[in-house]
Amino acid sequence: MEFYFGRHFGFCYGVENAIEKSYKALEENPEKRVFLLSQMIHNPLVNNDLIQRGIKFIMETDGTQLISWDEITQEDIVIIPAFGTTLEIEKILNDKGIEAQTYNTTCPFVEKVWKRSSKLGEDQYTIIIHGKHNHEETRATFSHSSAAAPSIIVRDIEESKMLGKFILGEISEAEVIQYFEGRFSEGFNFKMDLQKVGVVNQTTMLAKETWEIAEFFKSVMVQKYSEAHLTHHFADTRDTLCYATNDNQEATYNLLTVPADLAVVVGGYNSSNTSHLVELCEEHFPTFFINGA
Ligand code: SF4
Repeated sequence: MEFYFGRHFGFCYGVENAIEKSYKALEENPEKRVFLLSQMIHNPLVNNDLIQRGIKFIMETDGTQLISWDEITQEDIVIIPAFGTTLEIEKILNDKGIEAQTYNTTCPFVEKVWKRSSKLGEDQYTIIIHGKHNHEETRATFSHSSAAAPSIIVRDIEESKMLGKFILGEISEAEVIQYFEGRFSEGFNFKMDLQKVGVVNQTTMLAKETWEIAEFFKSVMVQKYSEAHLTHHFADTRDTLCYATNDNQEATYNLLTVPADLAVVVGGYNSSNTSHLVELCEEHFPTFFINGA
């Protein structure tokens, strides 16, 4: 029997850093209650181990509250996971005087997306976020980008095409508003706010898909405003793609070329990274999925 392994796999820098800090938080605070805003990463093995060591989750992955904020006091430790969190939750933690910053494990590559969003906002660009609107990281990025600029979330190329149709005057404002209900920032003006755009992503989305979406909006802007005026209407944001996600995805693309009979993916059933890798493998091989083993 022959086994093939991806050139890159396993936890990325951001996740390793977050796991390490979580264990450190437990070690350094044996007498305190330690909470995680939500799952540290979408890996059941890691999450279950943290639970067994006494960590409690304040929220579900989708934002459903498990423990009321009233129960969290200044004496508690709260860990912000690698995905980061929303400005609203940061405010709740700050208002409570919790030492959240000590155990803020937000990945620097997620923060890089937020910084880029801020810069885009300063330059009057609207931010199109390629992500899953109910994923912690996308909710956090949306919260940060909305504070800087009009922001809207697209799940995939199909949704991007709907937005493109509106930009090109092929569907009405009422249609586009209904389609994107709940996924654009307060006060978003579809007529005014889609003249200058930049695309950022939830870092675990397929990088190729983000690239495709960015290229699509670029072509829409060329069609509407001409190549000569492109830089005034489309921002190049390639530098925000996470290298770790890219490496793992590229390694998977390479593995898809081997003459295997079966693919085995080990990950988390609710992990965005895992679900994309399973989808890619399923296109080529019978695929077996092991949940967090
Ligand atoms: S941004 Fe990249 S390195 Fe950071 S947690 Fe996400 S996948 Fe990992």
